[in-house]
Formats: sequence, C-alpha cells, structure tokens
Amino acid sequence: MAIETRIIQPDELEIAVQLLRQGECVAFPTETVYGLGANALNTKAVQKIFQVKGRPADNPLIVHIYNKEQVQELVIAYDPIVDQLMERFWPGPLSLILPKSDRVPTVVSGGLDTVAIRMPDHPVALALLEMVDLPIAAPSANLSGKPSPTRAEHVFHDLQGRIPVIIDGGPTGWGVESTVLDCTVKPFRILRPGGVTYEQLKEVVPVEVDPSVNHAVVVDQPRSPGMKYKHYAPNAKVIVVKGDHAPQIINQLANSPEYQHLKRGVLAVEENLHLYPGMIVLNLGPKQEQKTIASRLYHLLRQADSIGLDVVFVEGFTDDNVGMAIMNRLRRASGNQIIQS
Ligand code: AMP
Ligand code: MG
Repeated sequence: MAIETRIIQPDELEIAVQLLRQGECVAFPTETVYGLGANALNTKAVQKIFQVKGRPADNPLIVHIYNKEQVQELVIAYDPIVDQLMERFWPGPLSLILPKSDRVPTVVSGGLDTVAIRMPDHPVALALLEMVDLPIAAPSANLSGKPSPTRAEHVFHDLQGRIPVIIDGGPTGWGVESTVLDCTVKPFRILRPGGVTYEQLKEVVPVEVDPSVNHAVVVDQPRSPGMKYKHYAPNAKVIVVKGDHAPQIINQLANSPEYQHLKRGVLAVEENLHLYPGMIVLNLGPKQEQKTIASRLYHLLRQADSIGLDVVFVEGFTDDNVGMAIMNRLRRASGNQIIQS
C-alpha cells in the first residue's frame, strides 16, 4: 500500500528521529549521496530498507555513526592502524569494513561476518545521527540498480509512496558513494572507489585496489553484453568513449545506422560541448574539475531519462584520483560498454 511521502526541512529533524525510533525508514542527505536509513540494531527496520529499494538481500549496508565511540559496540578486535584512517578521513566519504560484533544483525551485513561503518561529513546527517543516537544502516536512497540520488527530488522520484519522510538538504557535495575499504585483509583493499582516493589512502596504509573496481573490459564494438555488471544505470543505453578521439568516435557512432534514428545525447566536458552538433549535450563540468564532474554525473544520467534519450554517449576519464570513482560508476552504468579511442 502506498503511503504519503513528506519532504521535510533540516529544522524538522525531530519528525525523522521519531520515525527512526519506531523502526521506520527515512531518507537523509549525506555529503556523498542521499541515504535510506533505518535503525541498524533492529532487524525488522533494516528489512524494510531492502523491501523499499528492491535490493538483493546479500548486498550489505553501511552503518552510519556520528561519534567514534559508537564503533566499539559494532565491531570486534581490528588492526589498530584503522584508528589512523578514522582520524584522518572521518567524518568523510570512507566506509571501513571491520569484523562485526554480534550486536549487528546479519541482515545488515548480508550474512557476512564483517560490517562497513562510516561517519558522514554532512551537518544534517550528523545532527540526525546525534539526535537519534543509534547506529543507522543506510544504502543509497534509490531503487536498486538506478543512479544514486544526489537531490531530494531524485529520492522522491524513486521512492515516493514507499517511505514516510525525505529530509531535503539540497544537492549533495560529492555526488558519488563513499570509498569502501576492506580492513580485514592485508593489504587493505578498495572494494569501491569514492571521494577518499587510493592516492590519499596510500599515504596512511598500504592498500590495493580490488580488480573488480577497474574491471576494464575494453570492447571494440559498443554491443558487448556484460549486462550483469549493470548498476547505477539510467533507462537509456550508456556508451562510454575514452581517449583523445572521443568526440570523433561519438559523432561517428551517433550517426551510424545503428543509432542515427534514436534520440541521442552526450555527456561531455565543458570544453567539448560545441563538438556535438545536432545532439542533446549535457555539461559534466570543466575537464580538470573531477569533483564537479562526479557531483553532476548521476543527476545528468537521470536527466537523460527525463529527456527521454534512447542512448547517451559519455566522454570517459583517466583513472587517477576521483577519476577512479567516476570511471567505476560509468563502467557499471554502461554494463562495461567502454570504447578506447
Ligand atoms: P550503497 O550504500 O547502496 O552504496 O551500498 C553499500 C556498498 O557497500 C555496497 O557496494 C556493498 O556491497 C558495500 N558493503 C557494505 N558492507 C560491506 C561488507 N561488510 N563487506 C563488503 N562490502 C560491503
Ligand atoms: Mg547504492
């Protein structure tokens, strides 16, 4: 049964606090993307997250806290160097996977014996977490498989009628989900790149990037199946073209018999906007500003759908710094349709 979904302002947090205490789900802003939170210690509450999103039960959630002392009840003994990571990067977009304690229900960890924890760097998220004073399990507040929400209206679009409240904190800062770092293996391993980069982590502790992150299946033709890797994806078909000749390749493809009759669009950097005559072109931001590009990416992928594009070509990026997170999401959104030019 559909319920009424209210959008509330950050000065109305008490409403959200009450709902969370009653075992309900609430969407809230963080510095990465909007989260769909529930009391992490309440199995029934956490099960609602999976129902609302249509999320597979084996995909674990990240537990959000506002105070480092909250970590202790959630975990058992871990490598002491992790404290240095918390010190340096929290609050911030870094989720740390640690051995979980029995306090954390298995529904949160997707049946694993580990738990991912982070402290978000957003005043509304931190205020909410402090007021409710419970660890809050929260994945991104989108329907499973869709691009993560970076604005309250994205959450409303996906989850309207399914959740009671969305806290509107405006557009999120980073726009891509947190870095997920497994601290239960040596060296520590990046399972998902995000705002805290490989380069930054390496300054504190030896780290490896999981091979799945840069699962760079480079294809000659944009028709490779690989759809099982699809995620963060709009309804439009996404084709990523990397390299110096990206604009030429995109124009050639767009005007090929396969695509010329479709509604085509391009996500391009500001410098290249003029290179795509006759196509709908959306601005990712200046080429050198990785953070701007990351923050706009999901919004523009959603815009591709609201415009009704059939196919969206995206200029690709290098894998350094935040580029690793951007390319990881594009790889998944495109089902690995990455063309190197
Ligand atoms: P989301 O919040 O929707 O971005 O999803 C949370 C991400 O963290 C997913 O990619 C999960 O697979 C990952 N994650 C959360 N907990 C764990 C864990 N204990 N072990 C491995 N990955 C995890
Ligand atoms: Mg997600």
